[in-house]
Amino acid sequence: MDVTPLCPVCDAEVVIPADAMENELLTCAECGSELEIMCLAPLALELAPEVEEDWGE
Ligand SMILES: [Zn+2]
Repeated sequence: MDVTPLCPVCDAEVVIPADAMENELLTCAECGSELEIMCLAPLALELAPEVEEDWGE
């Protein structure tokens, strides 16, 4: 079954590598959001929790 998952942020198609694993992080090519593969069958993507790094400003 070929399912093209959509980015939950911008609805762009997200390319999943053939060797992708559950819990792997992907980056949406359209909006740059970090997405986590919650489940491979069926494929489910979720926005990865944002890791806020404090770089100072
Ligand atoms: Zn996106």
